[in-house]
Amino acid sequence: MSQPEQHSFQAEIQQLLSIVIHSLYTDREVFVRELVSNAADACEKFRFLQSSGQTPAAEGEIPPGIQLKTDAEAGTVTITDTGIGMTREELVQNLGTIAHSGTKAFLKALAENQKPDTKLIGQFGVGFYSAFMVSKLVTVYSRSHVEGATGWKWTSDGGQGYAIEPAADLPRGTRIVLELKDDAKNFAEGSELKRILHRYSNFVTFPLELDGERVNTVGAIWARSKNEVKEEEYQAFYEYVAHDSEPPRYRLHFTADAPLAIQALLFVPSKNHEMPGMGRGEPEVHLYCRKVLIEAKPKALFPEWLRFLRGVVDSEDLPLNVSRERMQDSDLLKKLNKALTNRFLKFLGEEAEKDAAAYDSFYSEHHRFLKEGILSEWEHQAALSKLMRFASSATEAGKTTSLAAYVSRMPEGQKEIYFLLAPDRAAAESSPYFEVFRAKKYEVLIVEEPIDEFVLDRLREFDGKKITSAEKADLTVEANPEGALSDEDAGLLAAWFKLTLGEGVKDVRASKRLVDSPVVVVESDQFMTGSMRRTLKMMGRESMMGQETPPDLELNPRHPVIVRLNTLRQTDADLAGLVVHQLLDQARLAAGRLEDPRAMLDRLSKLLSKVVGA
Ligand code: ADP
Ligand code: MG
Repeated sequence: MSQPEQHSFQAEIQQLLSIVIHSLYTDREVFVRELVSNAADACEKFRFLQSSGQTPAAEGEIPPGIQLKTDAEAGTVTITDTGIGMTREELVQNLGTIAHSGTKAFLKALAENQKPDTKLIGQFGVGFYSAFMVSKLVTVYSRSHVEGATGWKWTSDGGQGYAIEPAADLPRGTRIVLELKDDAKNFAEGSELKRILHRYSNFVTFPLELDGERVNTVGAIWARSKNEVKEEEYQAFYEYVAHDSEPPRYRLHFTADAPLAIQALLFVPSKNHEMPGMGRGEPEVHLYCRKVLIEAKPKALFPEWLRFLRGVVDSEDLPLNVSRERMQDSDLLKKLNKALTNRFLKFLGEEAEKDAAAYDSFYSEHHRFLKEGILSEWEHQAALSKLMRFASSATEAGKTTSLAAYVSRMPEGQKEIYFLLAPDRAAAESSPYFEVFRAKKYEVLIVEEPIDEFVLDRLREFDGKKITSAEKADLTVEANPEGALSDEDAGLLAAWFKLTLGEGVKDVRASKRLVDSPVVVVESDQFMTGSMRRTLKMMGRESMMGQETPPDLELNPRHPVIVRLNTLRQTDADLAGLVVHQLLDQARLAAGRLEDPRAMLDRLSKLLSKVVGA
């Protein structure tokens, strides 16, 4: 037997190895992913050759597959594949020199950053060397698929170089034996390796066995065509990725070629698991490249407000078109993010069309995320606005409308979209702000959650129609009926109101919109509504409101109390004064702007005394 040939590693590889071995200790388990993904690549290449008829028939009988074996006693892990294998030249070339621009980029990144991130290992395509993070000796046995090829044994301790010698009786493929370092012996435990394989390699396409047991049972169903996947398979996969035994609300399985090659399988859980006040959930969609996990739950894959999604995105553009070292490339992730988000929002729109009831139940569970999307960025506002649903004065109780449907019902003459924040439908319909809408038969969206007001405020318009709070609507009921104050009298009375109320109001004017109520307070700050003010107060965000200005007061020249007041102020100024103050407090109470209603009690007693003639 001849002596093994000794070879030195290229200088860069020595440098790389010393960094890999001496400074990367966290996340060492990625070596499993790297070696499995190399094995899967080798199988994939073999399958390609086979399918294009380039492999001798006899070789083709060994199907491509991957096996791992642990030996806790010996402290070794062996990974065997029946893939393409390597010739002697390929062993020298692939495992001993830098063939990848990625390796150079990796070294550069390390030079700039003393404590490198181990995630980089895989991303920079220096995967094979990660074996040395955990091994004191690595032996690679390999025989190429090429006809007449003989086997070779490659060994290295990760130091200066490696040895290479012929090896007899090898089947096609590659077997890598890792002799684990003393502080890495845990990787020779079957249970530990099983956990790691489940994490990184559960969806490898080729059969993957660990100590004789099949590991990847679920399969990369996202990479199969939709009509080939059974419902049960989807359900099993969903349970696996979402850890949720309830069936998902929605499922979106799609492939795209442009702008990026994407295979995605996304789910919307039936329940929103994020409790208010309990903090934000994590994004839960994993990123794969050709069925090998690139990153679990990457943050930048979707906008944060889509964090309720579960599933998998696979893009082969990640390492192929754009070499692996640029995985971190924010442009690429941004592109992916945009394509995925647009596709998902389009999907929601289609589902809403298809089955409104199902969409409603999705919406009632997850609407807050969509609203967060509107409030947190401009980019998807237009698409999101179409997905909003609101209760409305025109829908039956319990039913909602879209903004598009609202617009389609707008009568001639109605220019804007109106909404009113109220605790419920009954409260909205009995609100003084609602009177003019009832009179004009204009529809009002009834929003029950304070966040909706901010959302609508942010949207500003829909389909070219301005969105306006009912409190601020510039609308007029029809001409004054008989017995109402003349415009002139109403003006004089308003001036007297202001004189009487002093600083309590900013401005008093005759109202054109009140029907049944004598007065109403109106926010004098054009950027605020009364309900917004209440919400900000509730959240302890008074600072956002700016200086608190007193409200404006509108009086209803058709209301008998107002009509009578105009004469009463001349005959009994005292009593008229009491009534005016009382009217203001009532209006403030109705608008939620009366801090302490007990202040009214003293005045009410005085009024009651007058009424009973005491
Ligand atoms: P990458 O996989 O990104 O190319 P690696 O460092 O992981 O980088 O592997 C280097 C090269 O070694 C691979 O490109 C491949 O040609 C070869 N190789 C590694 N493992 C195997 C294997 N199990 N079978 C065949 N070739 C392999
Ligand atoms: Mg690799």
